[in-house]
Amino acid sequence: MSKSLQAIRGMNDILPEQTPLWRYFEGTVARLLDNYGYKQIRMPIVEFTELFKRSIGEVTDIVEKEMYTFEDRNGDSLTLRPEGTAACVRAVLEHGITGGGQVQKLWYIGPMFRHERPQKGRYRQFHQIGLEVFNLDGPDIDAELIIMTWRLWGELGIRDAVKLELNSLGTSESRGRYREALVEYLSAHHDKLDEDSQRRLKTNPLRVLDTKNADTQAVLVDAPKMADYLDDESRAHFEGLKARLDAVGIPYVLNPKLVRGLDYYSKTVFEWVTDKLGAQGTVCAGGRYDGLVEQMGGKPTPGVGFAMGIERLVLMLETLEQIPEEISRQVDVYLCAFGEEAELAGLALAERVRDELPNLRLQVNAGAGSFKSQFKKADKSGALYALILGDDEMAQQVVGFKPLRGQGEQQSIAWDALAAHLATCVVQG
Ligand code: ATP
Ligand code: MG
Repeated sequence: MSKSLQAIRGMNDILPEQTPLWRYFEGTVARLLDNYGYKQIRMPIVEFTELFKRSIGEVTDIVEKEMYTFEDRNGDSLTLRPEGTAACVRAVLEHGITGGGQVQKLWYIGPMFRHERPQKGRYRQFHQIGLEVFNLDGPDIDAELIIMTWRLWGELGIRDAVKLELNSLGTSESRGRYREALVEYLSAHHDKLDEDSQRRLKTNPLRVLDTKNADTQAVLVDAPKMADYLDDESRAHFEGLKARLDAVGIPYVLNPKLVRGLDYYSKTVFEWVTDKLGAQGTVCAGGRYDGLVEQMGGKPTPGVGFAMGIERLVLMLETLEQIPEEISRQVDVYLCAFGEEAELAGLALAERVRDELPNLRLQVNAGAGSFKSQFKKADKSGALYALILGDDEMAQQVVGFKPLRGQGEQQSIAWDALAAHLATCVVQG
């Protein structure tokens, strides 16, 4: 196939053999979020470029080098969303649904786009489930977000494979004081810093803490620590969060170097990390952003949220073999019909059964075929039972009922009794 007719590098098809696991994952998260009282919001995939520059920050990796930006036919600069928070804040402001201190607990799901180097767990179109809470400023809600994800890891069977890292970036005042101290310290060691960090020292000094360069890391050992610069309010907030995690029994490690890539965080930041995926170890990340809504033109509105990477979590389920058995079977019952008359009767019968058992996964053979070939397809479908309609069954107004897995003889069931019989032998989702 010529290259221009192939998918774009880093943008993946999710094939039919993969979608059951995706849907299981997405369904599990959606149910959990429903149960905790969160409501779904859906935003467009494209926004004005300015939105992301303003919210994410001009001197972040995303805005400097990862955005898919283009001019539309009107000459407007648009960008494929690299993350969800900016658009979510834009949406709540535009619709006034956080005004007057209204609490909103929202979540969203969908593709995000970043021009990064594609590798395992890192793609150019990837998918996130994200969540944002507005107008709650206490540590209790920060704790709830973490508790919810902890429950999710439990339900998915991957709790033992993830670790919670926590930090507090303080209020913008305390972060400002810390930034000064850090810049002063790093400037005194300027020559020992890698080139990237020298640049960041000028543009976004906190990001130097995030460096992977060993020499710079060595310099950082004696650098001032954010924890020493937290004001009383930030300290109390952080202690409140830790007390709640302790109360629920969620283990965490404090990571003073956790600063996150985006500009807008304040106070709590956290990441769930794993060592099962190689270099791309962060599966869920978030924090508090009390200044963001105001920065985007709204009234001061506290906010906190997180996003998880679906590709990485699906990869975790595969790596740890936490794939529930029931998702591999897509069909309960497969109906085979031989001859045109049987085919017509089969179609009508299938619809009657579906009327009574709307959750039954009933597949009707298409494309006719010999006895042998239809049975082969029935078996390959993974169905538990085959229903058979041939000349004999037609004459007696019955259907052959044949177990395909394990024990049991074929029996004849009257058409009128079929739905009731199936209800007793197939557990329906
Ligand atoms: P990383 O440090 O891995 O680049 P990030 O800090 O840029 O992550 P966030 O913007 O916080 O990531 O996004 C939240 C989550 O989305 C990440 O923890 C990760 O699971 C997922 N994610 C981010 N970028 C990608 C990508 N390019 N491909 C796949 N998943 C991604
Ligand atoms: Mg990144």
